[in-house]
Amino acid sequence: RALTFLVISCPCALVISIPLSFFAGIGGASAEGVLVKGSNYLEALAGTRTVVFDKTGTITQGVFEVCGIHGTNCASGSCPVESGHPVYTKKEEQLLEYAALAECHSTHPISISLQKAYGKKLDVDRVTDVQEIGGHGVIATVDGHRVAAGNDKLMKKEKIAYRNCSCTGTIVHLAVDGVYAGYLLLSDTPKEDAITAVKELKTLNIDNIQILSGDKQAIVSKLGTELGISQAYGDLLPEGKVAHIEALKTNPSNRIAFVGDGINDAPVLAMSNVGIAMGGLGSDAAIETADIVIQNDQPAKVATAIRIGRATRRIVWENIILAFGVKFAVLLLGAIGIATMWEAVFADVGVALIAILNAIRIQKKKF
Ligand code: ADP
Ligand code: MG
Repeated sequence: RALTFLVISCPCALVISIPLSFFAGIGGASAEGVLVKGSNYLEALAGTRTVVFDKTGTITQGVFEVCGIHGTNCASGSCPVESGHPVYTKKEEQLLEYAALAECHSTHPISISLQKAYGKKLDVDRVTDVQEIGGHGVIATVDGHRVAAGNDKLMKKEKIAYRNCSCTGTIVHLAVDGVYAGYLLLSDTPKEDAITAVKELKTLNIDNIQILSGDKQAIVSKLGTELGISQAYGDLLPEGKVAHIEALKTNPSNRIAFVGDGINDAPVLAMSNVGIAMGGLGSDAAIETADIVIQNDQPAKVATAIRIGRATRRIVWENIILAFGVKFAVLLLGAIGIATMWEAVFADVGVALIAILNAIRIQKKKF
């Protein structure tokens, strides 16, 4: 009887199957293009109650199309959003050249799009003293002129009288030597699966979905309405995003997943319960700091990852209950002399094998 007891009480089934379930979960996730950096993140993901998205590059494609260039003398209030590449005047061409040159060292999606819109080869030697200000824009010296390219916050900071534009679109104001020169109107479209991403999260009973962005409130609100996200916050500097997440974290039971591309949001990625980065568009800092990396940049993969996290947690609990249940029953039967060594071997090796088979089931599952 003592030997039967000893065999049954061996904890193999628990010790092997629980880590194995998590490994299988991580494996299953990577098959879906989601890299999870540790089993604790998979568990945290399963308990996520709030999902916060960054806008540019995360929910939107981060590929801006320049749809208008306006010098200071253009009729105010008339900013037709043209599609494709309109024909620009010499002065407008010059604005674009200055903007592209000033931005030539930045990796922000806006900068890359400006350089692409300019189209010609940029002579980086013409640019010196580059200063990139997160959430504002860039200041650089181009051909000896001090060029500031950025949003209205940058213009206010530099005390430049800029012209307000009422059209919806991301606006890059341009000032040369402290004098306002005009603006470029850019537009960015949501990623194809952005609506699906939000819908799927809602079916997983995650109702607290938010967008945080450094872009203008009007643009962020419009995107929120399009996607069905009522909590859309714009005009946030990187530190504003940090303060927002801190406020959400004051409720300790509120587990937060932040999804970002790392441009101006690496600190938020680090401080949320689960930081999820876009692997393609995302900056190296983001991929380094994040707990989970989505390889193909699809926001819908957030719901997939949560489903995998929940499935893993369920299988871990199934294994714990199975192992404890069978072991206790057989221990009891062994104590009163009904269970022999055969039953003991089943309660040990048999249960361990069943638990392992249950664990590797995750890898076969479709999410
Ligand atoms: P989001 O939070 O939506 O990802 P960011 O924090 O990256 O956006 O940027 C916020 C805003 O700051 C942009 O919408 C843009 O107006 C301005 N900005 C930031 N970096 C640049 C830059 N390199 N050039 C021009 N504007 C910039
Ligand atoms: Mg961003």
